[in-house]
Amino acid sequence: QLLVYKKYKDKKTVSKDGINVELVANIGMPSDIKSVLNNGAEGIGLYRTEFLFMERDKLPTEEEQFQAYKEVVEKMDNKPVVLRTIDIGGDKEVPYLGLPAEMNPFLGYRAIRMCLDRQDIFRTQLRALLRASSYGNLKIMFPMISNIDEIQEAKKILEEIKVDFKNNEILFNENIEIGMMIEIPSAAIMSDVFAKEVNFFSIGSNDLIQYTVAVDRGNDKIANLYDEFNPAVLRLIDTIIKNAHKEGIWVGMCGEAASNSELIPILLAMGLDEFSMNASFLLQARYLISQLSVNDIKQELPQILQMKKGKQIQNFISKITNIKN
Ligand code: PEP
Ligand code: MG
Repeated sequence: QLLVYKKYKDKKTVSKDGINVELVANIGMPSDIKSVLNNGAEGIGLYRTEFLFMERDKLPTEEEQFQAYKEVVEKMDNKPVVLRTIDIGGDKEVPYLGLPAEMNPFLGYRAIRMCLDRQDIFRTQLRALLRASSYGNLKIMFPMISNIDEIQEAKKILEEIKVDFKNNEILFNENIEIGMMIEIPSAAIMSDVFAKEVNFFSIGSNDLIQYTVAVDRGNDKIANLYDEFNPAVLRLIDTIIKNAHKEGIWVGMCGEAASNSELIPILLAMGLDEFSMNASFLLQARYLISQLSVNDIKQELPQILQMKKGKQIQNFISKITNIKN
């Protein structure tokens, strides 16, 4: 089986009936790049930059961040790299920031919420990543956007830094793509409006599921309720993809669900453009996609979206695609 997958390393990701998608990887640090390239990634769909801020005792400087981001884009050799601004808080603690403990960290002061408040931290990161953007194909993505003000404010701050760079003749990519995570139900519901604000979406299924079904993503006791096949989750994902395409922007997924072999057929049928996952799943996913006829599954999509239970959807998909786990 492993040998079969290996043949797919340097291939494009194309379904049996010729639909082409991007198959990219999630990383946390520059040192992850080796395994990403060994597994045939077409780019990085999620660079979780918060890891650069964790397990140390003070904030990384602009220069340290610049070096890390530059290393990633250079090693990826002009392949796309989606760099996500820090998503600290929730399950990702950073003791030296001295943030007070919260009753509900997953609903609390984290990610873009903290960045718009602590603009010193945010602006330093934006400067570092804009500088790195002239060394490869860097795209910037904002996490945990829940309303329009947040994305507009984040874009405004980025614009201010661009103006400052121009005035000071600091090089950067003036056409850098700006995207946002869709990982909060309010953003999914309003995705038609958000699609006018950005160049791309990436669906964060880990959080989108957690917030849609109100199940802590790390709580084993209720893990049975954390279901990527929950029809409510699938309808939201379908809405997000439709709204993105209506505005002509591309949409990816970077949560764990993007590598689920029974979900991939549904995501392909919905028209997802980019699948970002742990490097170890890439070749298996490319092989799977090459075996699927997307247009056949698309015919069944209206019926799938009317089903009442996740289990029913999963069984139906296994049956029509012949996927065995
Ligand atoms: C997600 O929420 O799906 C996601 C990719 O972000 P993280 O897992 O870092 O919260
Ligand atoms: Mg998330």
